[in-house]
Amino acid sequence: MTFFNNLPITTKFVLSFLVIALVPMAVAINISYNTSKKVLETEVTNSLVAVADNKTNQIEFYLREKERAVTNLSHTSDIIEAMEELSAAFEDKVANPEAFQDIKKEYRPFLTYYKKTSEFEDLYLIRPRGEIVFSVERLSISSIYEIALYEESELTKVFIRAKESSKTEISDFEYDYNTEKAALFISAPILKGAELIGVLIVKMNNAGISELVKDYSSLGNTGGTMIMAHSGDNVVFATPLRFDKNAAFVRSVKKNSFEASSLKKRSTSNRDVGRALDYRQEEVLFVSRYIPSFRWGLIVKMDTKEVFSSANQLRKKLMNISILLMCAVVVIAIVIARTISRPIRALTDVSASIAEGNLSARAAVYGQDEIGELALAFNQMTDNLVEANKNIEQKRAELESQKGMLEKVNKELDSFTYTASHDLRAPLRGIASFAKFLEEDYRDKLDDEGRDHIQEIIGGVNRMNQLIDDLLALSRISRIQNPFEDVNINELLEAVLKRIEFDIKEHKVEMVIPPNIPVVCCDRIKMTEVFLNLINNGIKFSSKDNPDHPRVEVGYVSEADNHKFFVKDNGIGIDPKYHDQIFGMFKRLHSNAEYEGTGAGLGIVKKVIEDHHGRIWIESVVGQGATFVFTIPKELKEKKKIGEILVEDGFVSQDVLNQELDKQKSQEV
Ligand code: ADP
Repeated sequence: MTFFNNLPITTKFVLSFLVIALVPMAVAINISYNTSKKVLETEVTNSLVAVADNKTNQIEFYLREKERAVTNLSHTSDIIEAMEELSAAFEDKVANPEAFQDIKKEYRPFLTYYKKTSEFEDLYLIRPRGEIVFSVERLSISSIYEIALYEESELTKVFIRAKESSKTEISDFEYDYNTEKAALFISAPILKGAELIGVLIVKMNNAGISELVKDYSSLGNTGGTMIMAHSGDNVVFATPLRFDKNAAFVRSVKKNSFEASSLKKRSTSNRDVGRALDYRQEEVLFVSRYIPSFRWGLIVKMDTKEVFSSANQLRKKLMNISILLMCAVVVIAIVIARTISRPIRALTDVSASIAEGNLSARAAVYGQDEIGELALAFNQMTDNLVEANKNIEQKRAELESQKGMLEKVNKELDSFTYTASHDLRAPLRGIASFAKFLEEDYRDKLDDEGRDHIQEIIGGVNRMNQLIDDLLALSRISRIQNPFEDVNINELLEAVLKRIEFDIKEHKVEMVIPPNIPVVCCDRIKMTEVFLNLINNGIKFSSKDNPDHPRVEVGYVSEADNHKFFVKDNGIGIDPKYHDQIFGMFKRLHSNAEYEGTGAGLGIVKKVIEDHHGRIWIESVVGQGATFVFTIPKELKEKKKIGEILVEDGFVSQDVLNQELDKQKSQEV
């Protein structure tokens, strides 16, 4: 199905049309071919049956005629007399041989004449005991049993049958090697009153019957009639065949062939109809009949090639028509497919052109059908797109200008923060000095309340100093972008711990640092700030109410795209509702009396992580410690070369940066 879906429209149309046209066509051709074949088979079978019946009747009539002629002859007084006289002379043959010869001579012309006119081959007069007293052709034979002895003759068999049944009998065919012709005998008893005085036998050949079967009218070019007969143990053709004139008694057939089956007696129907391979190995349609009175099989057959030739011709014609139809279908399918695919292709070209940025391109509308509507809708969509694009451009320009303004304001704000905090330092220093003088020089002149006020002033000044420090730190973070470089985090952490060594010892904090943190590309200075802030917080919020077991753990997990760090403590924890808020600048959850601090640390940490394109979040609930998790991408997007630094508009070298940092620090102090 996917294969079909991927085909071009024209091919799809051609294939679909072909299937739609060809399947019914093939079915129709098949049905009409099979129907016409069936009709032809029935018709030809009927005509073969008619021919078979007709031939059978003709043959039966022909033989009955012969039979009747022989019977009639056996009843004539001439024959009875001849038989009597020949028989008597035969008895006397030894004593009076001439008399026997004379009597034979006397009857020879009459019997020879009869043989000739009836187209018999021979004519015998035989005494009941088997002595042949007369034969037109075979002068030397004296006894029927002599023939039987040597030849197993049909003559002998038919003689015995006539003698025993006292009726006219017809023999099977046999091949006469003397005459090289088929021989058939008809025997009739010669009776004088009720007494059998001899048997009259005539010998016939198969010429008469062959004449009958030679008539091929209504049997086309391949049809024919065949007479099958027993010849000894074999089944043979008793008459010449249409395609083998010398077949009679020469060609035999196999016992299991349909030709041989025609000789089987049938109980119900006397006919067999079917198709089979004949002696030429050609398929034939046949009708066979058994003729019991002569023990012959009669087959009328025709080659199926001829029988079905008109059906085959019809099929050929239909095939030719369907080929023409196929061509027409292909042409029509191509024409229809083109009318559909051409506008679609044009539409595709226009979309490609629009995709390349040519928004002025429009689809041609070929008509008002669905494709025309599609083209209209497409053009409408493109108009909308142009309009939307215009709006977006406008908005973008507005945003750009707002961004510029914001950046300007931000810079001004930054510079204001920096200047303000910087400028606040001098008066604050003055306040601190004067408070110190007051404390030292006027301590004794002031009462307790006065001294408390001075302490308050000194405390406030310290806190303000701290705030200014934080503000300056934040300002530095925003203004200065240090280079990203490969930093050994284990070394960095070591340096951090060194800086807060005193706090760790004082609060007996258990510090856990994994040994093999990989090298991470980052801003070394700012990353130090991150760890310093988070570890400091961890110590601060785990040591106060948990003096015996404060614990801070730094962890690392390598993810597919990120380095993931966490700083975990077992301190007071943070209510999840504050998780986002505490990253805000100067946001605190506790008073200064509870936990010292300004609330700037996490704001700075978040800014640094975001500058690294990472993320930071908290996993904590109240009372169960807090875990600060942050990620640093393994491939930093805006990775700057070591030794170069982006300051505002351009790059400056590391030396310039260092100078800048030193300058700032000295100013802040
Ligand atoms: P500071 O520590 O100076 O108050 P921070 O920005 O570092 O400021 O922290 C802001 C607030 O977040 C803190 O006042 C505290 O309430 C809360 N906080 C920060 N770290 C922790 C922590 N590890 N455990 C509990 N609370 C914390």
